[in-house]
Amino acid sequence: MLGRSLLVSEPDRAADAPAMTHRIRCDTCGQRSPRHVEFGRVQDWQLRHAAANPTHHGYTETLTRPWVVSPRP
Ligand SMILES: [Zn+2]
Repeated sequence: MLGRSLLVSEPDRAADAPAMTHRIRCDTCGQRSPRHVEFGRVQDWQLRHAAANPTHHGYTETLTRPWVVSPRP
């Protein structure tokens, strides 16, 4: 069994790793934006949602980022 000190945990930066994505949820009604690699696309959704729902002010962003654990070199 490998001990914790023999392992390294880090974001997966391999060329074939899934891209980090953003998503934002309206805290008032729970609607969610599509997931997207560009935060600006998610923010566009937020601003359209807020314009259509002027009383919806709070939002929560979720980041999805791939990580890997590998033996310490
Ligand atoms: Zn809303």
